[in-house]
Amino acid sequence: MQHAAARYVSTRGSSPVADFAEALLRGMAPDGGLYMPATWPKLTPANWAAGLAYSDMALAAMQPFIGTALPEGALDRALHRLIAGFAPPEVTPLVQLEDGLWLLELFHGPTAAFKDLAMQLAAALSAEALQTSGERLTLVTATSGDTGAAAVAAFANQPRIRLVVLHPHERVSPVQRRQMTTVEADNVLNLAVRGDFDDCQRLVKALLADESLRAQGRFSSVNSINWARLAGQIPYYLSAVSQLAAVGETRAPVFVVPTGNFGDAFAGIAASRMGLPSRGFVAAVNANDALARAINEGVYARRAAVETASVSMDVQAPSNFERLVYEASGRDADLTRGVFADFARDGRVVLPDELLTALRREVSAVSVDEATTRAEIAHAHATWGQVVCPHTAVALSAARTIDRTAGPVVALATAHPAKFGKDVAPVVGFDPHPPEVIRALGDRAERFDVIGTDTSEALAAVRAFQT
Ligand SMILES: *Cc1c(COP(=O)(O)O)cnc(C)c1O
Repeated sequence: MQHAAARYVSTRGSSPVADFAEALLRGMAPDGGLYMPATWPKLTPANWAAGLAYSDMALAAMQPFIGTALPEGALDRALHRLIAGFAPPEVTPLVQLEDGLWLLELFHGPTAAFKDLAMQLAAALSAEALQTSGERLTLVTATSGDTGAAAVAAFANQPRIRLVVLHPHERVSPVQRRQMTTVEADNVLNLAVRGDFDDCQRLVKALLADESLRAQGRFSSVNSINWARLAGQIPYYLSAVSQLAAVGETRAPVFVVPTGNFGDAFAGIAASRMGLPSRGFVAAVNANDALARAINEGVYARRAAVETASVSMDVQAPSNFERLVYEASGRDADLTRGVFADFARDGRVVLPDELLTALRREVSAVSVDEATTRAEIAHAHATWGQVVCPHTAVALSAARTIDRTAGPVVALATAHPAKFGKDVAPVVGFDPHPPEVIRALGDRAERFDVIGTDTSEALAAVRAFQT
């Protein structure tokens, strides 16, 4: 197949057009906006037909985004590596819970959470891009658990890449910490910060802004603002529709997505822009409800994040909301820049009526509190014999209220419950049985450095690591 060069523009409208490799290695656009494909590639029903292999769907959905920016066969090789890390033949199996209600299981990868699906691809594709340019890349990220684990598993031993992960010391679960710290890879530095997640994020910002580090090569982050991470989440939406077709369900589904930074949900919206049939998207958030208040009340306002059982969704300023505003406004970069400049300055912005109407056409949003989340974990176990993680429970709670007469409802299951045993066990009365990837962590030796919250300590640690 002949592919044109895929082009990327910024949501803020004043960055030079970039190709896939540039968008991948930069992460954020130079004008502070997020990269978006200049046009949406179009797929056809043949791309989600019953019986297709995950790799075929992923190739069709992702190759148009890469175009000619990476070496021939790069995506094939990346997909091969991704799929080798997933046990089920479907990669993301679709499980029926009851009439019209389905669970799309995204947690069968190396760290037992859905971030593996995109992170494995982003890592392999980054290595391919650097191979072409001959450059080196240092990635830094702050994590409350899942992102860091997925990033370490994906980037460990990738050529030309170093990865620095900052996690709050003694505030991530033992499983999540061991997933990050037991990997034997000289290109990974784990820093345990004597502080909280916000301290980690502040240190990452300081590191990314440091001129002396930037002078040593490309320097970026691995969070879900990266277009490559979003692109890597599109294929499983095709997989869901394909698996429904395989059992004779050809009506379009509603997708219910447990939501933090809105990357997962935006990938679904991207799939529907490319032609995938759907009856809509529901973003299910926890008590951190800035997104739900923006869409339901028309005011996007920052509040302090509260700690919940669905910790990977404890987000109060969802980064990919900017992509949604850009897309829903008909790609109005001036309006997008205005909304997010006001939000950055005042912590609060009233969304114009026209924008609000457009946003509501794209997605609806529901906030689920902690008691309801626990009740949903209990309900899933009692009714279907399914043990679900708190993030999945948030989605299921929203999913069960949706009318199923017009077609199926698919809730996304984003993590294995054994990663969140502390919250799940008290509800179901036993520890969820861990998958092989967690059992295999065993008592392997851990490697991490403990640092304080001073920028100077973080800088010194990264400088020593880079030389
Ligand atoms: C990251 C994460 C989410 C939220 O995904 P977003 O793309 O940030 O909306 C949900 N569940 C789990 C388990 C996660 O790790």
